[in-house]
Amino acid sequence: MDNSDERIAGQVKELVAANHVLFARGVVDGFGHVSVRHAIDPARFLLSRSMAPALVASGDILTYDLEGREVRDDTRPSYIERFIHSEVYRARPDVMAVVHSHSPAVIPFSVVKSATIRPVYHLAGFLGESTPVYEIREDAGDSTDLLIRDSRLGAALSRCLKQHVAVLLRGHGSTVVGENLRQAVFRAVYLEMNARIQADALQLGEVTYLTAEEAAAAAITNERQMDRAWDLWLWEAERHRSIYT
Ligand SMILES: [Zn+2]
Repeated sequence: MDNSDERIAGQVKELVAANHVLFARGVVDGFGHVSVRHAIDPARFLLSRSMAPALVASGDILTYDLEGREVRDDTRPSYIERFIHSEVYRARPDVMAVVHSHSPAVIPFSVVKSATIRPVYHLAGFLGESTPVYEIREDAGDSTDLLIRDSRLGAALSRCLKQHVAVLLRGHGSTVVGENLRQAVFRAVYLEMNARIQADALQLGEVTYLTAEEAAAAAITNERQMDRAWDLWLWEAERHRSIYT
């Protein structure tokens, strides 16, 4: 195995772990998916075949190009919404990993126009000042199944994402990006937690949000400690699996 094969094997291993972690943390269930940009060819990315993330093993990881095509013509079914990943990688060269989920606490912020998700605590500082909401009706009318089914809708979603780290999809879920896989997972987990805490806080009264400067400073601190959370979540996910297998 040469050096590039080893790098890809390492990516596959971490991507399998990311699938399990996201399930154990309640970000994905039967649905949702996570990808990583190919370490050797930036015009490709790695993503599981269509299946529940908790059950993903290394043999399920496929390689896609930026058209959303499986490069080895693997005939196993692909995720319908793989175009979220392909178009975000196309539009954002800085993005190395993408998580798409329907994590439940985020959904209310996608459907209530006056409710904007904002960082209420330091661990969600990466959210910055605002998070856009994608309205599929503007591109595909009011009778779709809300899924990002092709490159055109994937491109429209990534235009809405702009340079943000997350975008909500109205009545559907969210998409979170990272400069590496662990960061994307961290952000997906804490986007969900922030949504839950923000909704709880709004019940109590007026909410004090992080300032833009606080959010930026907290994000830098968290970045340095990300592996601490990753190691715990991996341990938790492996324990979780050992109960059932
Ligand atoms: Zn979806």
